[in-house]
Amino acid sequence: MEGNTIMTKRLTATSILSLCALLVLASGAAAQQPPTRGIVNVTGQLYRAQNNNHYTVFLVTPEGIIMSDPINRDFARWLKAEYATRFKVPVRYVLYTHRDWDHASGGVVFADTAEFVGHRNMLTALAPPAGSPALAPDAVKMDANRNGLVERSEATGAIAERFDMFDYNRDAVVSGAEIARGSVSDVYAPTTTYIDRHTVTLGGKRVTMHYLGIAHADDSSVLHFPDERAVFSADVMQIKRLPGGLAPHVGSWIDALTTINALDFEHALTGHALSGTKKDVGESLRYLEDISKGVAAGIGAGRSLAEIQKTLTLDAYKGFERWDTTRAAHIEAVYLTMRGTPK
Ligand SMILES: [Zn+2]
Repeated sequence: MEGNTIMTKRLTATSILSLCALLVLASGAAAQQPPTRGIVNVTGQLYRAQNNNHYTVFLVTPEGIIMSDPINRDFARWLKAEYATRFKVPVRYVLYTHRDWDHASGGVVFADTAEFVGHRNMLTALAPPAGSPALAPDAVKMDANRNGLVERSEATGAIAERFDMFDYNRDAVVSGAEIARGSVSDVYAPTTTYIDRHTVTLGGKRVTMHYLGIAHADDSSVLHFPDERAVFSADVMQIKRLPGGLAPHVGSWIDALTTINALDFEHALTGHALSGTKKDVGESLRYLEDISKGVAAGIGAGRSLAEIQKTLTLDAYKGFERWDTTRAAHIEAVYLTMRGTPK
């Protein structure tokens, strides 16, 4: 900041004007498209709300709103204003699907009226950065002055984009521990946690959270709306779309989708992309079972990973998003798990 002031003093009026013009142009070019936002009724008083590629859900009762992920502060403020205009009742519960920054940030907007519920493992994930792990290799590349930390001016990529959300202690420097914790500094910690399942009741309505195990993250919940016969899950449940990855192992994904599939529902509402029905969730589960059986059969027949990737085409899922881009990586992940050497 000081450097800028000194520089400005040295500039002539004309160059200040052109500098201003440049800054206006630059900020115009950098400005993002206005976010795509909307609210769609699912059934009864259950709604699905969109912020670009992310979705949340909320249930309106006479005594207040039960909602899922706040997504981010800006969206949460927008949603809060929509609630006030359309429904005129406050948010009483925020039920988290998991701790990831792109779903769970911004809850502070509702902290004046809401109780926040998440799986107990969310607290561990949100705990202050601990220990002093070394910078990961990609962060080492940013560390130009080699002090073992990434200064704001050194940061690139995701760390630059979300610097403040990584910088837990707000000292304008991120450490290996802050990077390992993740960009979760704007996630409002759950005020209530649970282990296996947890039901909230409000205004004659119920929502039950069920723990999904360790697929994707170790603190994932599916929300079940029994009266609306709906479920909501972010990242674990996908509709006509392969998961981004199968970490930590395919068995955990089969377990999670089996848990969801055992619930009574018709509406399968997701944190990304398409919504669907119970039949779709069954197909996602079958994909995981088919890839597991296919890889096991390939290993049993003495085939190499490359051979299995070539022959196990899983054509039944050709219409799924990411089938062309992600299938080979999933086969590799399952193969390595079955060979006992997961990545
Ligand atoms: Zn996630």
